[in-house]
Amino acid sequence: MALNIIKNYLTNNRCYIKGEKRTPIGIQIHTIGTGQGTAQSVADYWNQAAVPACVTYCVDADVSGKVLQFLPEWMRSWADAGWGNNNLVTIEVCESDYIRYKGGANYDVLNATKFKEDILRGYRAAVELCASICRRYGWNPKAELPNGMHVISSHREGNLAGLSSNHGDPDHVWSRFGLTMDKFRADVAKAMCPELKAGMKVRLTQPVAIRDSVSTRTKKAGYVRYRILPVNVKRKCKRLAGGKAQLKAGNVVVIREVIKSYDGNTWIKIKNGYLPVVVNGVCRVAQV
Ligand SMILES: [Zn+2]
Repeated sequence: MALNIIKNYLTNNRCYIKGEKRTPIGIQIHTIGTGQGTAQSVADYWNQAAVPACVTYCVDADVSGKVLQFLPEWMRSWADAGWGNNNLVTIEVCESDYIRYKGGANYDVLNATKFKEDILRGYRAAVELCASICRRYGWNPKAELPNGMHVISSHREGNLAGLSSNHGDPDHVWSRFGLTMDKFRADVAKAMCPELKAGMKVRLTQPVAIRDSVSTRTKKAGYVRYRILPVNVKRKCKRLAGGKAQLKAGNVVVIREVIKSYDGNTWIKIKNGYLPVVVNGVCRVAQV
């Protein structure tokens, strides 16, 4: 699924006009809590002074992969009255036209098939959007921040931690289809990783030390020494303590072999050694 992010800043929304700066350290997931129509209809409605809400991105549920950007990522949003606004890229995922709210998080579903299609379409686009954001910032979607929240958390998780306003999204909708935030984070990590094959070129998205073999259950792989590398490879590396060679982020390598290690991680053989490139579900390379 191709992601199509369209800039649609809500210049009449007071949150945008205020334009407070903050530095994002993670992502917060919301679902909108209304039978909203399209992301464009949300944009058109929110783009007025009377609406006291605004998020960084709005994911469409009708067109696969479509995302509208309402605010620059550096701008504080008005999404959860707390943690998310001050620290996170906030994402509102559209729900469905086939939902009718009865108060709070209670709702009727008007067409079960179409409702499910809409929810899954929005979910998948949100996964891709988060993968692209995490890739750009070098974030591990499964990691935890210093306060114990995940790099990607939901409005509900913020609420349960006492950091956000009292809302239950997106679980009040996602849970019908077995979708959880843990699954979401795992799906983002998966989306960040291409299917690796011999002969393929990949770019390192983070620095990785070059190893002399692949770790096994009984023996941890050693490190390739910086001093034995050819000059042109040395230039691409950083010399670490102990004389280890660390290939810098951004370097492109050709995969000679893909090896699954005993612990489920994925290693690749390259010209000068071996690299662990998928570790605990987090991918350290991108397709070139
Ligand atoms: Zn919310």
